[in-house]
Amino acid sequence: MKVTIFANESEKSTAVASELHTKLLAAGFEIDDAHPDIVLSVGGDGTLLSAFHHYSHMVDQVRFVGVHTGHLGFYTDWRDYEIDQLITGLLEDNGQSVTYPLLAVDITYADNQMADHYLALNESTLKKLGSTMVADVYIQDELFERFRGDGLCVSTPTGSTAYNKSVGGAVIHPRLDALQMAEIASINNRVFRTLGSPVIVAPYETITIRPQQKSHFVFTADQLDTQPRPIEEIRYSIANRRIAFAQHRHNRFWKRVGTSFIGLDEQ
Ligand code: NAP
Repeated sequence: MKVTIFANESEKSTAVASELHTKLLAAGFEIDDAHPDIVLSVGGDGTLLSAFHHYSHMVDQVRFVGVHTGHLGFYTDWRDYEIDQLITGLLEDNGQSVTYPLLAVDITYADNQMADHYLALNESTLKKLGSTMVADVYIQDELFERFRGDGLCVSTPTGSTAYNKSVGGAVIHPRLDALQMAEIASINNRVFRTLGSPVIVAPYETITIRPQQKSHFVFTADQLDTQPRPIEEIRYSIANRRIAFAQHRHNRFWKRVGTSFIGLDEQ
């Protein structure tokens, strides 16, 4: 089996990655950064996000394993002191994985209708800073609402515990296939009205945002953050590719939500 290690630059992650590297070689694994079967991310959920984007062009061929060098994360099933157990699991690996949906983002620009395509693991946002964003929101090509406010966030179930949660979105179990749209500081008064709560759409449904100003916006897809040229529309859907995790132990999702956000004891 070919594996690669993708670590963040912290001292602890570097040390854990070095130990992992030595033990993987001793156990007979081949290290292949270009064409791995398994990507072992060492760091936090943010590191796993970076690893995903590094290998997103071959997401159909790789499986991920997250080792957390701090607290347990949402994409990281293993702790840094469990490396021996993880290697034993990898030696007995039979190709099993659990997969989660990804967000497909298709942008059409206002100028010459050129398009861009992105994949996101957590979420994508469209925001306007300094003045109100006015945008029409369509679900399945039917006008749903005219939004006024700071912006909109569309997230995956696994991304629901990230930025989505900070803007009042619901936490969604990662085994569901769904997209969620959450508002960022919407204006609601006698003149302007939005639904005012997050919406979760069915797996086959698309969400389309059509900004009513042709000025610049801040667009994000996970860690990517750009101010693209004026946008005609952004269409969000569940991607036809999914992220796969090997050596998955994430079967107590709600316990992890409790330990991360409410301060319940781990275990
Ligand atoms: P960062 O600003 O360095 O860290 C953001 C935090 O989000 C980290 O604590 C990270 O966990 C955590 N995180 C990432 N994915 C998560 C998930 N699916 N569920 C729960 N927590 C998660 O940014 P980053 O590490 O490069 O990650 C980018 C992500 O940060 C974005 O996709 C967005 O979701 C999130 N973010 C959130 C806010 C906010 O809540 N206001 C603002 C900006 C960005 P680790 O410590 O384990 O890495």
